[in-house]
Amino acid sequence: MIPIAKPFIGSEEKTAVMAVLESGMLAQGQVVADLETRFAELCGTKYAIATTSGTTALHVALLAHGIGSGDEVITTPFTFIASPNSILFTGAKPVFVDIEPDTFNIDPAQVARAVTSRTRAILPVHLYGQMCDMDALQAVADRHGLAIIEDAAQAVGAAYRGQRAGSFGTGAFSLYATKNVMSGEGGMITTNEEAIAERCRLLRNHGMRRRYYYDMLGYNFRMSNLHAAIGLAQMDRWADFTQKRRANAAFLSSNLSPVITPQLGPDRDHVWHQYTVRLTLAQQAERGFNRDTAVARLNAAGIGTGIFYPVPAHKHAYMQEIVGDIHLPVAEKVAQEVFSLPVHPLLSQADLEQIVREVNKL
Ligand SMILES: *Cc1c(COP(=O)(O)O)cnc(C)c1O
Repeated sequence: MIPIAKPFIGSEEKTAVMAVLESGMLAQGQVVADLETRFAELCGTKYAIATTSGTTALHVALLAHGIGSGDEVITTPFTFIASPNSILFTGAKPVFVDIEPDTFNIDPAQVARAVTSRTRAILPVHLYGQMCDMDALQAVADRHGLAIIEDAAQAVGAAYRGQRAGSFGTGAFSLYATKNVMSGEGGMITTNEEAIAERCRLLRNHGMRRRYYYDMLGYNFRMSNLHAAIGLAQMDRWADFTQKRRANAAFLSSNLSPVITPQLGPDRDHVWHQYTVRLTLAQQAERGFNRDTAVARLNAAGIGTGIFYPVPAHKHAYMQEIVGDIHLPVAEKVAQEVFSLPVHPLLSQADLEQIVREVNKL
């Protein structure tokens, strides 16, 4: 089976972890600080603050902006569940708006229409590694004085008009094992605002400024040096791995015929966390099989796949209790049409050709 994702752990990662073990300094320390410096450099931000996961990065970023009970945050339903859950953790309400049918990212025109007197922030998700339409979102944010919290979990190093993800608003990244840059588990917040960075540092460590004196209710969301050591070694691979992902995506897009290949918005540097195609409902009806059957056929032929995501966030029962029984037609349709193919940097030319051969049999 050609897996949909394959973390790469080389001798650099192993040596770095052994060095931390031998140092005896396992918890958050210098290695985490070094990873933060490297991450801020990659994103083009003044500050980066490491946390335990992408989920805690989002949670802390929202809290650092003072978002809580009574507030509304506008976001996309077509995302991993951690994006809207992080809003719920703060006591605020997620307000879901529909997506663009071509990029699958949040539709800025819908965001503009959803703003109320309670809206405090927009939480766009740079899905699959392609950035949202940041000019349009920034215009809405500026008009209403809203914060932008970018869910850049899938988009490390992606760019919009040459500017990197996480540097438009406050960025939240995941370093989970299958993400483009990984540390096993881990998260990162990026910002250019000193005050936000300082609040994030406090929130991830019990609200503690001076030992055993607490400024606020805080958490233990500290990354360990062991995880940071893996992340640092992976940072050295980002450029090569991203280039390989781009080459793999280009090969797939020029050779796949029976599915709709990924569409890029203008001025986007995609980092291809996922390579996601569509078998539209019309194509499914015409061919007499649905997306799940297509995926089962590929799996039987040794091609790993993923469905990101089969159910839009607003359709889960617990979420409907909060947002009601709303209808977002584009997200609901696309959720039945998409599937992702392997695009990771460890694919061989033979793997790519096998993927093309099997998909083209659909
Ligand atoms: C992975 C991911 C997260 C959460 O990251 P974790 O590190 O798994 O907590 C959040 N949002 C999106 C879009 C993701 O892909």
